[in-house]
Amino acid sequence: MNWTALPAFSDNYIWMLDVQGLALVVDPGDAEVVLAALAERQLTLQAILLTHHHADHTGGVAALRQVTGCTVYGPAFEVLPEPVQRLSGGQCVTALGAEFEVIDVPGHTAGHIAYYCKSLPANGSAAGVLFCGDTLFSGGCGRLFEGTPAQMLASLDALAALPSDTRVFCTHEYTLSNLRFARAVEPDNTDLQAYEAHCQALRARLANTLPSSIGQELKINPFLRSRSPAVRQSVLQIKPQASSEVEYFAALREWKNTFQ
Ligand SMILES: [Zn+2]
Repeated sequence: MNWTALPAFSDNYIWMLDVQGLALVVDPGDAEVVLAALAERQLTLQAILLTHHHADHTGGVAALRQVTGCTVYGPAFEVLPEPVQRLSGGQCVTALGAEFEVIDVPGHTAGHIAYYCKSLPANGSAAGVLFCGDTLFSGGCGRLFEGTPAQMLASLDALAALPSDTRVFCTHEYTLSNLRFARAVEPDNTDLQAYEAHCQALRARLANTLPSSIGQELKINPFLRSRSPAVRQSVLQIKPQASSEVEYFAALREWKNTFQ
């Protein structure tokens, strides 16, 4: 199995997996970049996995289905380009011979789902694979457009509980701006400093910073660390009345919304 990041729009990645001439793509906001990649590599598109309804994740679905006849899978409760095989937490979907478990991760949107394969031999190593849409980013998390802070915290907790070597395929290249915020939250986190230097070097040569891993994110992502003393101490300077787990998380997310 191979994975490829297909850049789309200004900072989206459409992730493509392929094996033996067959491919799947996740959240194809743009059909053209997918069709070009399929043609270049002589691949047949078998399936599309959708995480949520936003147009930059679904805009290419109708054209790709029309051209390739592929099957489209997506969340049970969101408005999507029909027909869609509907999925919710605990269900599984098999594509390219790999089994993906669906995890409900409401927060960014009300019905957002993630796809997790616990072991996928790809690009030379075998480990878990997570397609998490706009829920978890490297160094950050999605904005709360439809869900509550409590929902997002529970969703991120579910992802954080996956094995630490799980490769995390986020759909936006937001890493450097997220890490700038993370550093404001945790200025003394040496793992974060080292990771930021690593990602800056990648971006300087226009390489992408993804996939990340659950283990890496647990060390540097403030939204997975909202219970840590260092993060809480910083949050209290912004929101002195925060006291519950959800209040700390909500204050952290609000702080990021206005961080320059
Ligand atoms: Zn989105």
